[in-house]
Amino acid sequence: MSQILHRSIAGGYPTAVSGEGVWLIDSDGKRYLDGSGGAAVSCLGHGHPDIRAAMHAQIDKLAYAHTSFFTSQPAEELAEHLIARAPNGLSHVFICSSGSEAVEACLKLARHYFVERGEPKRIQFISRRQSYHGITVGALSVGGRMKDRAPFKEMLLQGHHIAPCYAYRDQRADETLEQYGLRVADELEAKILELGPETVAAFVAETVVGATLGCVPPVPGYFKRIREICDRHGVLLILDEVMSGMGRTGTLHACEQEGIAPDLMAIAKGLGAGYVPIGAMLASSQIIAAVRQGSGAFPHSQTYNGHPLACATALAVQQVIERDDLLANVRRQGAHLERRLKERFGNHHHVGDVRGRGHFWGIELVADRASKTPFDPALKLHARVKQAAMAHGLMVYPMGGTADGNAGDHVLLAPPFIADAAIMDTLVERLGEAV
Ligand code: PMP
Repeated sequence: MSQILHRSIAGGYPTAVSGEGVWLIDSDGKRYLDGSGGAAVSCLGHGHPDIRAAMHAQIDKLAYAHTSFFTSQPAEELAEHLIARAPNGLSHVFICSSGSEAVEACLKLARHYFVERGEPKRIQFISRRQSYHGITVGALSVGGRMKDRAPFKEMLLQGHHIAPCYAYRDQRADETLEQYGLRVADELEAKILELGPETVAAFVAETVVGATLGCVPPVPGYFKRIREICDRHGVLLILDEVMSGMGRTGTLHACEQEGIAPDLMAIAKGLGAGYVPIGAMLASSQIIAAVRQGSGAFPHSQTYNGHPLACATALAVQQVIERDDLLANVRRQGAHLERRLKERFGNHHHVGDVRGRGHFWGIELVADRASKTPFDPALKLHARVKQAAMAHGLMVYPMGGTADGNAGDHVLLAPPFIADAAIMDTLVERLGEAV
């Protein structure tokens, strides 16, 4: 039995030993198609020669230099690269090691900003039902999935509130999709007014929900309305693009497709593409200006901020994506994947919904298609599909099946950006067998 304290504590997982492109290979030599990029991480697949070369080159020069003594060329270049392509108004980057840390930094900078501006009463955060933003205490505090919070309830931040999120079960028969999106957005405004706008620091949301509900693209018009509501009440908009960002949906940032920019944004996962642990917060020039005019510093730093090896690797990942025009491949092969998924599952009596964007798709499993009734969570259908897929040599990411809030059973797909049509066909074929 493994002595490592993480998910495999229960044992029973194969041992991964190597990776080649879209494949992972275990200690028995069995090959698994990485249909989920781990958890939407491995966007360039495994063992990419250019990334390995960039990592070797950097480690031969410098692996680490503490940020209280030095900056480094890889950190500077990565920051420049990210800001040159950032949503409008975002001007500065904080480089950390994970998605949770990136979200944590957003929450703390939002709070710090209001203290610096002389609005110390703005301390409450609002996020959405069933959301997931990470495991650290701040990030967990803004999570909307009760089962994650339950054991730690007394430790969590006070002043967290839940707003609705669109879900395929909740649209009324008498409203269009657009009306539905605006209704859900307006419920956020009602929440802000109920709390008192002068007490609300920020609204936190995933642009395309990935972490708990098996991929839910936003309803058209929703985020434009959200942006207006936040601006009207002086509330910051924090977008969590840890999963949906860095090209996963076919544009570098998912919010580009919504025509809006956040005040703060968290990215991770695809940033390091699985080669290094790295995450980042992007912050607006308005926030940075307030901090500059105030105390002049954001009192939040970590040992591994801007790690040179991590930054050089992340920069190489971005350069390969641009050089090989991989986001065009994501859009092209994403459309192919959509067609194949809809052909295979569009009439399946236990698949209620197939939804996504780019290389980011989810299927929702239901006991009854017509009434959209979810399965009994005790059946853990999502986990059983994952197990069956692994037996068929396919990795898919399972989610849901908890009793709170009707989360339902989901299977998330996030294949590497290098996947071609034949790989997408194999993925859908194996998933079909598993389901
Ligand atoms: N936010 C979202 C949307 C995520 O999907 C995740 C990871 N699943 C996180 C935050 C936390 O990232 P990490 O696991 O790297 O801390």
